[in-house]
Parts: sequence; structure tokens; C-alpha cells
Amino acid sequence: MSDPVLAVSDMHVYYGDSHIIHGVDLTIDEGEVVTLLGRNGAGKTTTMRGIVGVAPPRQGTVTYRGEPIAGESPDAISDRGIKLVPEDRRVFPTLSVHQNLTLAKRLAPDSTQTVAEMYEVFEPLAALKQSAGQNLSGGEQQMLSVARALVQDPDVLLLDEPTEGLAPVIVDDLQSVLADVVERNVTVLLTEQNVQFAFELAERGYIIDNGEMVFNGTTAEIRERDQLMRDYLSVSGADL
Ligand code: ATP
Repeated sequence: MSDPVLAVSDMHVYYGDSHIIHGVDLTIDEGEVVTLLGRNGAGKTTTMRGIVGVAPPRQGTVTYRGEPIAGESPDAISDRGIKLVPEDRRVFPTLSVHQNLTLAKRLAPDSTQTVAEMYEVFEPLAALKQSAGQNLSGGEQQMLSVARALVQDPDVLLLDEPTEGLAPVIVDDLQSVLADVVERNVTVLLTEQNVQFAFELAERGYIIDNGEMVFNGTTAEIRERDQLMRDYLSVSGADL
């Protein structure tokens, strides 16, 4: 078997003196969609921030295609092709959709993806080319922030709670768009509190609680464990 694309081992992350992530292990293989599940405050965002160097791990290793990357700057890690789409989306509010995308593309000159292709994948954005980022709905902003990452031709895409704050009907749209995205041979780590959404997209999952991994297995295995879902995800099989 080939090495994982991304391997996190015994990672510890702190905010100041607060020890938030306590020795987590996680691997993602080529082309996989892996979900990281857990309740509010469980440590999902911090795990992603540790991987991309925004909250550099104080202990442990992060290996990308066999090379250690923990300790590199967020820019260096991004340049390697590991792109985080943060929970708060951060589209440029005064720039149009088109400007947001062309700027992202310009920052990744080697990318083979084009802005025109993004309008094919994210059809709603095509009609909003000239709209300012700040005038988009939450769902449209989420699509734009994923499109901005994708136009840079990422090798690994880290999606932090993409459904956060979105109306259910918009979540359905986003799900079908992301289903297309994951067909494009991108390796994805997806954090979610929306368990159903994550199960639709991911084949394997980890559950984190209080900064520690409490389970990892296929999403089918998680689905079968009602008590596990109740204890750590506040849902039961009957809700799904
Ligand atoms: P959410 O669904 O709320 O995003 P999460 O699983 O992503 O939850 P994190 O955001 O990683 O959780 O937070 C993990 C813990 O770290 C929480 O207890 C949170 O209060 C704490 N925390 C988050 N950001 C900071 C910070 N900048 N400084 C100190 N503590 C923080």
C-alpha cells in the first residue's frame, strides 16, 4: 500500500498555556474523503489549524507525502498544495466574485484549474460574477471560498464546517456541488457537526472529543454505533 498523503501523529496543539489537542493521530490516503466529527469545541478547527501551521503543533509530527511539515509557515504549507477553507469563509468583501477568483488563481500561477472551470462546477457563482463578496448569501460565500481554494488546484483540501450557518435547502445544494468536487481526485478532510452531510460525502471518519480521538473507522461503522453517536455527536441513528 502506498503511503498516506497526510499523516498526523501524536499532535499536540496549544493556545497559549491551554492544551487543546492531546496527541491526535490521523491519516488520509490519496483521493480519500475523510471526516472529522465532534461536538462544538471538541477540537476540530484546532486540529486543522495545527495541520496547516496556523496553530503550530508543539509536539508530534505532520507528514505530507512522506515529508515532515510541522513547523513550516502556513504559506509554505499552502504552497505545498494543502489548502484550508476556514469556517468563517473570509471572502474579500469588497471584491466581486470574479475578482476573488482571479486573485486566487493569480496567487497559484502553476495551477491548471481555470476560473471558467469554477463557474462550471459552481453554477450559481456564474450568475454572480460581478456581485461583491459582501452581498452574497452564506451559501454563496461558502461556494466562493471553496472555489477559491479549488482554482489553486489543491492536493489536499481541508474544509472546516462548510455547512455552518447555512439554511437546510442551501446545505443540499452545497452537498451536490461538493459531491462533484470530490470526484475531481482531490483528497479531502472535512470537519462537520452536520453528521448526515458528512456521511453523504466521506467514506471514513474520526471522532474527536476534548482534543482526543475517541474513534476512527468507516462512516458505515460510525453509523452502526448508536451509543457512540449519542455520546460524542449528540445524534442517534434515528435522526439520520
Ligand atoms: P466548533 O464547532 O465550535 O468550531 P471545534 O471542534 O472546531 O468547535 P475548536 O474551535 O478547535 O473546536 O476549539 C477547541 C477548544 O479550543 C475549545 O475549548 C475552544 O474554546 C478553545 N479555543 C478555540 N480557539 C481558541 C483561542 N484562540 N484561544 C484559546 N482557546 C481557544
